[in-house]
Amino acid sequence: MDYLNNKFDVIVVGAGHAGCEAALACAKLGVKVLLCTLNVENIALQPCNPAVGGPAKSTLVREIDALGGVMGEVTDATYLQLKILNSSKGPAVRALRAQSDKAEYSRYMRNLIESNPNIYLKQCCITELLTDNGQITGAIDEFGIEYKARAVVLTTGTSLEGRIFVGLRSYSAGRLGEKAAIGLSDSLHKLGIETKKLKTGTPARVDKRTIDYSKMEIQPGDDELNFFSFKPDRPVRKTYPCYLTRTTEETHNIIRANLDKSPMYQGLIHGVGPRYCPSIEDKIVRFASNPSHHIFIEPEGLGTYETYIQGFSTSLPADVQVRMIRSLPGLENAHIIKPAYAVEYDYVPAVQTTHSLMSKKIKGLFFGGQINGTSGYEEAAAQGLIAGINAYNYLNSSEMLELSRSSSYTGTLIDDLVTKDIQDPYRMLTSRSEYRLLLRQDNADERLTPIGHKIGLIDDAQFDRFNKKQQMIADEQIRLENLKISATDEINNILSKYEEHIDRGIRASELLKRPNISYKILKEIDNSTFELNISKDVYEQVEVLIKYDGYIKRQQEQVDNAGKLEKFRIPDNIDYSKIEHISSETKEKLEKIKPKTLAQASRIGGVKPADISILMVMLDRGTVARK
Ligand SMILES: Cc1cc2nc3c(=O)[nH]c(=O)nc-3n(C[C@H](O)[C@H](O)[C@H](O)COP(=O)(O)OP(=O)(O)OC[C@H]3O[C@@H](n4cnc5c(N)ncnc54)[C@H](O)[C@@H]3O)c2cc1C
Repeated sequence: MDYLNNKFDVIVVGAGHAGCEAALACAKLGVKVLLCTLNVENIALQPCNPAVGGPAKSTLVREIDALGGVMGEVTDATYLQLKILNSSKGPAVRALRAQSDKAEYSRYMRNLIESNPNIYLKQCCITELLTDNGQITGAIDEFGIEYKARAVVLTTGTSLEGRIFVGLRSYSAGRLGEKAAIGLSDSLHKLGIETKKLKTGTPARVDKRTIDYSKMEIQPGDDELNFFSFKPDRPVRKTYPCYLTRTTEETHNIIRANLDKSPMYQGLIHGVGPRYCPSIEDKIVRFASNPSHHIFIEPEGLGTYETYIQGFSTSLPADVQVRMIRSLPGLENAHIIKPAYAVEYDYVPAVQTTHSLMSKKIKGLFFGGQINGTSGYEEAAAQGLIAGINAYNYLNSSEMLELSRSSSYTGTLIDDLVTKDIQDPYRMLTSRSEYRLLLRQDNADERLTPIGHKIGLIDDAQFDRFNKKQQMIADEQIRLENLKISATDEINNILSKYEEHIDRGIRASELLKRPNISYKILKEIDNSTFELNISKDVYEQVEVLIKYDGYIKRQQEQVDNAGKLEKFRIPDNIDYSKIEHISSETKEKLEKIKPKTLAQASRIGGVKPADISILMVMLDRGTVARK
């Protein structure tokens, strides 16, 4: 009963999206976890958009699920709406998005945490880290209580030295209604770990009863539901629509007239904000010729009237916000429950960590989530899971889990974070992956379930289901290769509905390659396919694999070709200062990041192909100086 003496295996600081995944992963693997959070009522809180998924992020959620994390399960259990975005586009960019019931999401996660006997939940603020000889040994909270552990995972979100801004007023806080975490940044500095500042913002919440939805466009979810988790038994719930309104000339005039009251424009905030989620004042300044911007009105939950005004984040003063919101069609009489605000916080540039998310300076200290310079729940959860798994691996002296860029968006995200000096909050985008046709949301299980099973987070029953599904996909591909579709009048009559026609017998797989032909149409024209009654998750995979066969093979070749540089390992102890013919800037970057492979070195901003060639030749000849 070590907890009576404040002794644990792992301390996870933060019970947000990263912290919950980290704590649950460690606990499921069998180690004792102290999970510290500033407010136990706010576990897995969604302080911004009450939504999970969307482009690239949905792939992260599926990857988390395939590895044995919980975000997919929690989202599936608490959605208000589910929708496939980009459904008419290619499979690489198709994305599932859920509108969440924010309170239910948080409650469901709290229940997972509290029902795990290996997790000890604690409301406290960690202010100091304890180390011995470059190794983490524990942490101290604001009351001076010491907790011992051989691994610590920091997932502090926007709380580190957080400062909230509403107009020109500002105060110390990590999120609205929650104090900032003061002290921990100083402790990190003393250990030689650098922090920098970033900024993010969130829109106001409006009372649903004061919104006139008749002036807005309804945005329903999908009737045919898709889910995040690959596990069975997903609950079917009643769904609710979102609505669309638009900014008006009056909105733009109010914002322009009040820009001098913006803390951003007054230079009070120094941290850079999320490039892909700009505030409304940023949009109006940067896209001045655009007469109107879309604003989505989204429910926050069934137990609240709070409604989220998506696309309208701002740090303008509270009284200006009232006028801005009331200038939107349907919101003329809106009552604001919570104002919009911006928050500036400390993060720890992740070039100071390895691909395992462990600090390069302090052994046993891991970082996950927004503290690494990212933005978004999904990005946070993916890193939290990897940091948690590796904290466990560290305790057991096992090999660290370091996912490659070609295996997953999670691997791509972490490689970008630890390799590139991130300048603004990093958000996952499909364009960040060079292998996006291989890294689809629909095949995350194929890519990562075997890893999740090997780690011990995917149980045998789920692994069995996964293997059966893979077998069914392979069998169905072979069957369609061998199935002949005859050019009969009856078949051509059906095909003509889809502007297709065949004048000779054709393999079913060939027919399926045509852009207008789907597996559902194949079921319509071929009785054997209809009678097989293959489940949607199987036939969707078959359809993608057959339709995009050529592209997929080409991308696989790209992976194989890149493999040469990926396999070219660089020892840890290279003395870059002694390498001739490369610039001092490149030497500094290589020294700071200490790339593990030549491929990683080539991705460092500013490192030129010529530098890589020099390094390759010297490594090959064994002529690089070592420390
Ligand atoms: C105002 C605001 C606007 C945002 N806007 C966007 C957006 O536009 N788009 C987007 O994708 N994402 C946005 N986010 C980001 C999103 O909320 C985060 O990316 C995500 O929640 C990060 O997850 P996390 O687990 O890293 O941190 P969080 O979910 O923030 O959780 C951090 C946890 O750490 C705890 N904690 C912190 N310090 C300590 C300490 N010293 N001791 C103990 N516990 C501690 C906190 O109590 C909390 O439980 C926004 C967040 C905020 C606050």
